[in-house]
Amino acid sequence: MKYITVLVDGMADYEIESLGNKTPLQVANIPNITNLAQKGEIGLVQTVPKGMSPGSDTANLSVMGYAPEIYHTGRSPLEAASMGVELLETDVTFRCNVVTLSEDEPYDEKTMIDHSAGEISSEESKELILFLKKELENEFIKYYPGVSYRHLIVWDNGPLEFTLIPPHDFLGQKVTSYLPQGPNSGILYDMMKKSFDLLNNHPINISRKEKGLNPANSIWIWGEGKKPKLDSFNEKFGLKGSVISAVDLIYGIGILAGLKAIPVEGATGTIHTNFDGKATAAIKAILDGDDFVYIHLEAPDECGHQGDLDGKIKSIEIIDEKIVKPVQNAMEKAGEAYRILILPDHRTPIKIRTHSSEPVPYVIYDSTLDSFKEENRFSEMAAENSGKFFSAGHELLNYFLQK
Ligand SMILES: [Zn+2]
Repeated sequence: MKYITVLVDGMADYEIESLGNKTPLQVANIPNITNLAQKGEIGLVQTVPKGMSPGSDTANLSVMGYAPEIYHTGRSPLEAASMGVELLETDVTFRCNVVTLSEDEPYDEKTMIDHSAGEISSEESKELILFLKKELENEFIKYYPGVSYRHLIVWDNGPLEFTLIPPHDFLGQKVTSYLPQGPNSGILYDMMKKSFDLLNNHPINISRKEKGLNPANSIWIWGEGKKPKLDSFNEKFGLKGSVISAVDLIYGIGILAGLKAIPVEGATGTIHTNFDGKATAAIKAILDGDDFVYIHLEAPDECGHQGDLDGKIKSIEIIDEKIVKPVQNAMEKAGEAYRILILPDHRTPIKIRTHSSEPVPYVIYDSTLDSFKEENRFSEMAAENSGKFFSAGHELLNYFLQK
């Protein structure tokens, strides 16, 4: 049996008035996923444990079979693993976004315009981070450039007692009440404030502004954590597998779990990502002998954060056509018995433009089972009415692999 998880980041949503009180998932034209839902099983899963914040780190750990209550030690150390940054037990890591802040007010009164600085290219942001590295690094605090707007800071023997707020949690609002807090937060705050003075008129940002693009005119530090230790996926489940994604966080979880991280050229985590390349990579991994492949697609989440309803619907449709369909076709052609699990990690509702903690729908299809329910659709409501519910999200993977 081969096992394929298609993780559609942020896909689930709320009922939206302009859609006739339907969700993006309900109105999207997704014939391939619908077909799997008609032949498969729909259910509901609580990927974010009560009391934990609904981040992709927490939720994806659950979906990969690792209870976040035990294994979650912060988001940025997972990203560090993917970036190949070796951590010591004493290191404290931080996610460092390059973001777009409004220009005119004093730093504390600026508005968080864009947590992704217009989904800036890795090439441009790398130059900015290397510039900040030169200007702001000290003996203890080091900067590492990552993918697009997502970078890393490592603080040797750093403190952990912070309240740091992700920038996508207060888009369009003043930063005033979201600035770093805690005993040593002044050090991070100073770096953020200085970064604005260094970056706002950097040639890369002048050129971005001329092109009508959001400048990456400040860093925003959050996602603190320490080096985690995940049990080997192979030992836990007896399966060999791979992870395919555009984001360091997901690769990091995969690498720490002992899965192969397959790079895909042109994978950006947006609606313009290389969907075909991801499907091809997943098919190749399975046909080359992997038992399990985890395909992570970020686009609906990004659209949710941007408040882009049309983009969110469209990206779900593209994933149906360019990921689910070719993967399923390839499995049929190869004559392999297989199961597919499709689900989001968490909801990224258009209305709130950030993640929420409600349970999410899943669908499991098993090619060796013969059932058909014409009325089945894959949606939040169908899942809520299914009577199937995993209150501990990490148990779903075991069920998917063993049932
Ligand atoms: Zn998100």
